[in-house]
Amino acid sequence: MTEIIDGNAVAQDVRDGLADAIDALDDEGVTPSLATVLMSDDPASETYVSMKQQDCEEVGIEAIDIEIDPDAPAEELFDTIDELNADDDVNGILVQMPVPDHVDDREVLRRIDPAKDVDGFHPENVGRLVAGNARYKPCTPHGIQKLLADAGVETEGADAVVVGRSDIVGKPMANLLLQKAEGGNATVTVCHSRTDDLAAKTRQADIVVAAAGVPEMITGDMLSAGTAVIDVGINRVDADTEKGYELVGDVDFESAKESAGAITPVPGGVGPMTRAMLLWNTVKAAGLQEDVSVDLP
Ligand code: NAD
Repeated sequence: MTEIIDGNAVAQDVRDGLADAIDALDDEGVTPSLATVLMSDDPASETYVSMKQQDCEEVGIEAIDIEIDPDAPAEELFDTIDELNADDDVNGILVQMPVPDHVDDREVLRRIDPAKDVDGFHPENVGRLVAGNARYKPCTPHGIQKLLADAGVETEGADAVVVGRSDIVGKPMANLLLQKAEGGNATVTVCHSRTDDLAAKTRQADIVVAAAGVPEMITGDMLSAGTAVIDVGINRVDADTEKGYELVGDVDFESAKESAGAITPVPGGVGPMTRAMLLWNTVKAAGLQEDVSVDLP
C-alpha cells in the first residue's frame, strides 16, 4: 500500500511542539516576533504574507507587518531592514520575494542580519548550511526532512534524486540530504533543466524530490517500485473550476502513486511544512537571541 504522506498532520505536530517551546520562552518573559516586509502589490505575495502572519498569531508569535510602496526607492527597503536589524524586539525578518526589478534582491538577502534571517538565504547562513553547521535551514527543504523522518523513510545510504537546483529548494535540499547527520547521509544526484535522460536518474532513486515547477512532469513510469516521492511543485493549470485554474504538483500523482512507496499530495504535502518551519526558525531565533534554551520539535 502506498503511504500518502499527510503534510497537514505533520505540520500540526510541529506547531504543537512549537507551542510548548513558546510557553517555555514565555516563562522567561520572551515573546518571539517575526517582521514580514512586503514590497509588492502582487496578489499571490500579499496572500503569502498574510498567511505567514496568521500562522504566527495562531501559535503565539508576534507578527509585525510592514508594507512598502513597490514604487518607492530601494533605499526605503534597505533602511527598513537596517531598522529591523537594530530592533531588539524583532527576532526574525522575512522580506517577501520577489521584490520589484529596481531592487537588487541579492543585496536584500545580504542586508538582513544573518542572526535574524529566518528564511536562511543570507550568504553566511548558506555557507553554514553547506559546511554542515546550519543556523537556519531553509523552510521547504527542512520541512521535507521532517516529512521523510515522520514517514519512516531512511535517508542514510539511500539514492536521492533532487529535481531542480534553485537556491531556495533544490540546492539546500541536496545539501541537507548529503550532510553527515540525521536526515542526511544519502547519495545525492541533482537534476535540472539541462539534465540528459532524467527518467534514467529518477528510476534508480529511492527518494525523489521534485522541485522543477513543471506541472506533472514526474510520471509513474519514471519511478521504481517503493520510491518515496516528495512533490514540491505548486503549479496553476487551466481547469474548469470557479477560479478557472487548479493547483497541481510536479508529480503526476495518479500514475506515480502506483509505483511509489510513499508520496506527498499537492496540496497538503510540502506546503504546510514550509509554513510550519518558518515558525520553527523564528522560535529558534528568539531562543538564540535571548539566550534561552528551547526544545524544538
Ligand atoms: P525555480 O524556477 O527557481 O527552479 C526550478 C528548477 O527546476 C531549476 O533549477 C531548473 O533547472 C529545474 N527544471 C526546470 N525544468 C526542468 C525539467 N524539465 N527537468 C529538470 N529540471 C527542470 O523554482 P523553485 O523556486 O525551486 O520552485 C520549484 C517549484 O516548487 C515551483 O512550482 C514552486 O512554486 C514550488 N515551491 C513550492 C514550495 C512549497 O512550500 N510547496 C516552496 C517553494 C517552491
